[in-house]
Amino acid sequence: MTAHLAPVVRDALLPTTHSWLEKPPLEPFIDGAFRAARSEDRIAVVDPGSGLTVTEFTAASAQDVEDAVSAARTAFDDGRWSELDPEIREEKLRRLADLLEADADTVTQLEALDTGKPLAEARLDIREAVAVLRYYAGWATKVEGSVIPAPRRFYATATREPIGVCAAITPWNYPLPILMYKLAPALACGNTFVAKPSEQTVLSTAYFAQLCAAAGIPDGVVNIVPGAGATGAALTSTPGIDKIAFTGSTRTGQAVMRAAADTLTKVTLELGGKSPQLVFADADLDAAIDGVMGGIWTNAGQVCIAGSRLIIDRRIHDDFVAELLNRTRQLTLGHGLASATTLGPLISSTQRDRVTSLLEQAATENADIQTASALPDADGFFVSPTVVTGVRPGHTIEREEVFGPVLSVLAFDGEDEALRLANSSAYGLASSVWSKDASRVHRVARRLQAGTVWVNTYGVFHPTLPFGGVKASGFGRELGSAAVDHYTELKTTVIDL
Ligand code: ADP
Repeated sequence: MTAHLAPVVRDALLPTTHSWLEKPPLEPFIDGAFRAARSEDRIAVVDPGSGLTVTEFTAASAQDVEDAVSAARTAFDDGRWSELDPEIREEKLRRLADLLEADADTVTQLEALDTGKPLAEARLDIREAVAVLRYYAGWATKVEGSVIPAPRRFYATATREPIGVCAAITPWNYPLPILMYKLAPALACGNTFVAKPSEQTVLSTAYFAQLCAAAGIPDGVVNIVPGAGATGAALTSTPGIDKIAFTGSTRTGQAVMRAAADTLTKVTLELGGKSPQLVFADADLDAAIDGVMGGIWTNAGQVCIAGSRLIIDRRIHDDFVAELLNRTRQLTLGHGLASATTLGPLISSTQRDRVTSLLEQAATENADIQTASALPDADGFFVSPTVVTGVRPGHTIEREEVFGPVLSVLAFDGEDEALRLANSSAYGLASSVWSKDASRVHRVARRLQAGTVWVNTYGVFHPTLPFGGVKASGFGRELGSAAVDHYTELKTTVIDL
């Protein structure tokens, strides 16, 4: 099938990206090979910047999922990966990272085309994916156990062993980095893997499957089953999986956890957020404005950590919001592959309509809605960056995760009220404090209910930094050494001396 590409895409694509798109391997990747999916369920790959269907693929069926899990099971049980010397696993994962880095330009273009995000953001995503792979490659040779001070008659150790078959269900906003948060520690620790990418963004994951084969990852160690909710549901209920790592909406996370209860499969869940950015009058306001903007306009607000609630000292509210709108007007809304674009479209018409309807609801609740730029003269699922002031606790726009370029602003009088507003959310993923007062920063950071608190910055991710939520934002931590605990199980061995 010839890819249907908008002129802006056709002009921007490298020959390598273009030729890959002519015949993308979007079949399930099972036991080291792409195999035709056994279902009739066709899914469109849509360019969110133009609305055009680029290509299509067939969703993996429950039978395909069973085959993928069985391939991963066999690959785990026969030790072709877990029994390798750790330095060999490290070497192969490093090779995988090198291959991804070598193809970064192509993968960046695929990710920008598939997600709609600007190229500069997609480039950072691929860099992050490479960095996460390299970081966990190093862990392959560093997972250690301990000798336990049991009664002297015994020699007792606690060693970390791989869990077995690990599954991942990933979302469409950061397809490759979020896959790496799960796959890289799983493989480093000796597990085998089955991943289901979001049906809305399958391209980079398919590309990555090819690289696994090229890097010499043994057949069956990494398996991919592209598809939508039905494929995900099949994955969560197929026996033979030892752990599921899910990133997505809170509602789907609940369904994943319910399904996992039947097979007693371990789960970690990284879910939604409604993260507050607390700006105090004593902050470096210039830096705070840029930080708040980065926190909400990045990926057009389709970020689980989006700093979507600006909670600001009433005394600086008006000036801050005016300057924030000024700077937001400088953003260029457009197709992700157009070089001037700094803010892309939303992932789908459904998502655009949901955001629009939340804004309509906010208007009926008497909030004040200010859009910062006109929509581009193009098809595609665009929403103008929007600041909603006059928001009060209980407003729909204050409670619901929007997943779009919409910033809700709440004013506070005093630190206690700021914290009350911040913590009133059902979610607890991320947060930030902007202030130059060191004591205040510590006081507030300690009381914020969130997996991450950024101080005088926002959205800092690094392979070393554990990431995850509290409350309705889920549980379990990805990245850093914390993930190693989730992808290994302790074994206690007691020897009678
Ligand atoms: P979003 O609203 O961000 O698309 P979802 O939670 O619906 O979030 O999707 C996240 C991932 O979960 C996607 O890969 C999607 O296909 C998958 N998914 C959707 N429904 C289910 C389900 N019932 N069981 C397992 N995975 C699912």
